[in-house]
Amino acid sequence: MPLLYLDHLASTPLDPLVFEAMLPWWAPGAVGNPHAAHAAGWRAADAIEEARAEIAALVGARPGAVVFTSGATEANTLALLGATPPGGACVVSAVEHASVMECLPELRRRGHRTATVAVDGEGTIDLAALDVALTGTAVPSPSLVSVMAANNEVGTVQPLAAVAALARRHRALVHSDAVQALGTRAIVMPALDLDLLSLSGHKLNGPMGIGALVVREGVRLVPPSQGGGQQRGRRPGTLPTPLCVGLGAACRLARGRAEEDGRRMAGLRDRLWTTLSGVLPGIRRNGAADGLAGCLNVTIPGIDAADLLLGLPELALATGSACRGDRAGPSPVLLAMGRSASDAHASLRFGLGRTTRPEEVEEAAARLIAAVRTAGVYPS
Ligand code: PMP
Repeated sequence: MPLLYLDHLASTPLDPLVFEAMLPWWAPGAVGNPHAAHAAGWRAADAIEEARAEIAALVGARPGAVVFTSGATEANTLALLGATPPGGACVVSAVEHASVMECLPELRRRGHRTATVAVDGEGTIDLAALDVALTGTAVPSPSLVSVMAANNEVGTVQPLAAVAALARRHRALVHSDAVQALGTRAIVMPALDLDLLSLSGHKLNGPMGIGALVVREGVRLVPPSQGGGQQRGRRPGTLPTPLCVGLGAACRLARGRAEEDGRRMAGLRDRLWTTLSGVLPGIRRNGAADGLAGCLNVTIPGIDAADLLLGLPELALATGSACRGDRAGPSPVLLAMGRSASDAHASLRFGLGRTTRPEEVEEAAARLIAAVRTAGVYPS
């Protein structure tokens, strides 16, 4: 049975055009530290600057705002630990990615106040609760608010413009983890009034191991790592030329095709939902129906989703965020949305991507339905 890959929210395949753009920089003869002062170094540095411009263009920022990181986990950590103002609080939504959530204990250890803001049953942040949190954490210094553009488990898109407007009233900085949204939606930092934004190569049909934090000019960023002065000291370390070039190419592609990809993927996602809900009684959808184009998260009452998927190794779906590793507890995102632990254990996520074809979606639905029936949850 061939592998059916519908886990694009965990990672997307490299686009052939991105592969092509990177190839010359991987070739055995390619040499040159991009920070070195000779022709080989300058050529690499020029390629990196071109990539920086592509990344900046995708989010409406200036090239100098782009700080390369190893991925979005590091970008989120850099944003929270590096940009929460001294003496200020950090306020996040209850459905943020683990790489945001797990910064909170460290921020508290450093003397910051932190607050987690509730979401509704679809996973949308409660703006009134955000207002209360920002008032409650009122400290002489401004705060940092971090709210993701779209959730990686249920696909709900957050009202970022409203979040930012509210944050401004409290003099807070605004960071958004835009990892999941950028492949199918326009996220323009000046239009949304964002100060910081995280993105990741492998969620954008680009390479793994590279991402960026985009930092609006004037925002103070204290890097948690020390070392050389690369990237103006904001994230020291030798830049990996092939990966930077790949991320630039992925962002250029995304800029040209995100809207069309989004429309096509949303059509496939809706067909998938129609198929599943027509066959599996009691199935429920988690997250807003107008959420991320590639995301369909469902609860199938009575199943143990992890067990079911273990029996379907050639059907790549997910039960939650891959970034929670081996932690087997119920999804904190679904719990924050008011689902019970047993519903959370009965939930799984389809992640459709740029390369997903209609017949793959149909085949995935058929394999899942057959497995649910075999598990004896429903009469066949
Ligand atoms: N934020 C979100 C919303 C994600 O989905 C992920 C990846 N699952 C990350 C951050 C972490 O990205 P990376 O794999 O580049 O560290």
